[in-house]
Amino acid sequence: MNNQYKYHRATLRETVSFIGVGLHTGQLSKVSLKPCVDKRGIYFVRTDIQSTQADIDASWYNVSDTTLSTNLSNQHGVSVSTVEHLLSALIACGIDNVRIEVDGPEIPIMDGSSEVFVEAIRSVGKSYLKLPKQGIWIEKPVVVTEGDKYAILMPHSVPRVTMCIDFPDTVIGSQCYSVTLEGEKYFEDVAYARTFGFADQVEALKKRGLAQGGSLINAIVIDGKKIVNPEGLRVENEFVRHKILDVVGDMSLAGAPIIGHYYAHKAGHSLNQKLLRKLFSETSAWTQTSLEQGREMFANHDELYGGDYIKQALNVVPIKKVAS
Ligand SMILES: [Zn+2]
Repeated sequence: MNNQYKYHRATLRETVSFIGVGLHTGQLSKVSLKPCVDKRGIYFVRTDIQSTQADIDASWYNVSDTTLSTNLSNQHGVSVSTVEHLLSALIACGIDNVRIEVDGPEIPIMDGSSEVFVEAIRSVGKSYLKLPKQGIWIEKPVVVTEGDKYAILMPHSVPRVTMCIDFPDTVIGSQCYSVTLEGEKYFEDVAYARTFGFADQVEALKKRGLAQGGSLINAIVIDGKKIVNPEGLRVENEFVRHKILDVVGDMSLAGAPIIGHYYAHKAGHSLNQKLLRKLFSETSAWTQTSLEQGREMFANHDELYGGDYIKQALNVVPIKKVAS
């Protein structure tokens, strides 16, 4: 990146398009990412709907369903589903503004990761706007729980995601992983990690109208202790890395990059959504400002808040399982 633009909002230099099948609807659709220079940020437009009300902001308050994927709906009931992998790619590439046109109800799943989106976005490159890039700095821990699952946002000077998952008696088992989202880390550690599902649940999902487009081409399928895909895994802990990919996409619905440490055990789209709602209901827990100003204001963030907040936050959650 050209350093002189590091505090500016960015859009794509050119339009890029993808055609593919939706994981849940099974419908073929085309998505085009178009440069956009206003302050609106990231938004979707359903081009198959002839209406002036077919646009949906990529925002936490538009989340309408989190069953297996993150789905958005506007106030007129127009929706778009499975947005998380594309949003993950966009935020990881530093894109703040883009108009996403889609001619169907679901974003195509491609290979089940965000790699196809990332490669296309990076191949056209970024164009910088004369608008300051924003950040949301976490100032106090925000915690949500659901049974033995929890998700926490806590102060940290750079965006970081730590996730633990636990699927006993399967090939996944217990996996924890932590990624600091700086430099090339997302592209090296996360972007290629595919979504996954369980063979014994596929029939039930298909009966409920879900996973209609799911196949070994776009998901890792697990049968107990075995991986069904003949090619196996791309990396040994691909599952937990994919959960981190999902977190990056879900947290992008805050509307600006969250500068803090996301720390979770067994969290998914539903808990991520609850976490954002809780965050925005606790106005003393965060500050939104320009990246430039924030870097100065919170320069000694780690010294001030440090590891104590991890301990404090973990005191209020049921499981004290700590990832390294
Ligand atoms: Zn996913």
